[in-house]
Amino acid sequence: MSEKALICTVCESRYPFRTSFSRCPKCNEPLELEEIGTGSIKAEAYFNIFRRYGEFFPFREPYDELDLGEGMTPLVWTPALAKKYGIGAVAFKNETANPTWSFKDRGTATALRHAKILGFSRIGTVSTGNMAASVAAFGAKTGVETTILVSSDIPSEKLNPIAIYHPRLIRVHGDYSRLYSESLRLGEELGIYFMNSDVPFRVEGSKTIAFEICEQTSFRVPDFVIVPTSAGGNIRGIEKGFREFYKVGLIARIPTIVCVQAEGCSPIVKAFEKKSLVVERFSNPHTIAHAIENPFPPSGNQVLRVLNKNSGVALAVSDEEILAAQKELAETGLFVQPASASSLAALKRLVHDGALKSNHCVVCVLTGSGLKYTSVFQHYHLAVEECDISQLKPCLSHSIS
Ligand SMILES: *Cc1c(COP(=O)(O)O)cnc(C)c1O
Ligand SMILES: [Zn+2]
Repeated sequence: MSEKALICTVCESRYPFRTSFSRCPKCNEPLELEEIGTGSIKAEAYFNIFRRYGEFFPFREPYDELDLGEGMTPLVWTPALAKKYGIGAVAFKNETANPTWSFKDRGTATALRHAKILGFSRIGTVSTGNMAASVAAFGAKTGVETTILVSSDIPSEKLNPIAIYHPRLIRVHGDYSRLYSESLRLGEELGIYFMNSDVPFRVEGSKTIAFEICEQTSFRVPDFVIVPTSAGGNIRGIEKGFREFYKVGLIARIPTIVCVQAEGCSPIVKAFEKKSLVVERFSNPHTIAHAIENPFPPSGNQVLRVLNKNSGVALAVSDEEILAAQKELAETGLFVQPASASSLAALKRLVHDGALKSNHCVVCVLTGSGLKYTSVFQHYHLAVEECDISQLKPCLSHSIS
């Protein structure tokens, strides 16, 4: 395979595959790996995304030693919810089944391959949540020196699930919003591959969510795919995955992509509604959905371009809607974090607005696990009964229904 170029999403300048910067030096907009327009699925390589979809990655080897078993997550169909909302079918792509309980593992594993090919011996990221845990875990697995930069005010319940992997963990005092670009700049200078939220190879990793959805729907793709969105890397990857499978002729159309954000931090939705092509920094962000609380998404403009090009949808949901959806998901057996529950909240909104019809098939991407954020329990009344062992028979003899 000839080496694929990294292409600026705005001016289309081409940069070599071995480029370690992630944004166009001219436009400061994200680079994206050139589309892969030929290839087929290696169906016999069932449990490994880099083998199964190897022809859709620009790597010469699968690099099995870098894996933690990421990807190949279940698509859970919920006929009861489809019936409740009067739509054709509803399924949940359960990304909580990844090694560190979020989709971030796909992008980490992919970026790690690029870092290895480029000869980096140090990796890092800027995150206080799922991405930090993911990079720390893969760093631990592979023995690559791993640096995680977090904000100085991070609470210990968020710090410890990162620290357990024993990365170099640095609390950075000062303006956290500058850390994304500052880390990329210093990484270039000092030889640290910062695999931040929307770097090109993270986007490549997220493609496999779309690939798997195609396979799990027998290539009759859903009408809508709803994606909780913060920095914008994941939704870009999912769109690119459908685009590449469409290019090679595996699917007949690309689903409508729905970008959902929390009302308390919705810079992309705000720009989309104003028909602006430029995302502005969202002031005073506040939402329970911390994993989608980036006030100035680095891929925001590119997400707008993708949505506009494909007749996509962007909408914001309130914390109340998110909590109601989280509860509803738990009651169907799926406990996800508030950010992920925003996808079901968006589905309900689209049903209410008449956008979803009785023949539509919808997939919600459940991006990360509920156990990552247990302080959410305080928002619910969770019922427990009491019973003495001597009274167990009368207690159990009446059913609650
Ligand atoms: C990172 C993350 C998102 C947002 O993904 P982006 O690529 O930043 O848009 C959504 N949900 C969860 C649980 C996440 O960890
Ligand atoms: Zn450019």
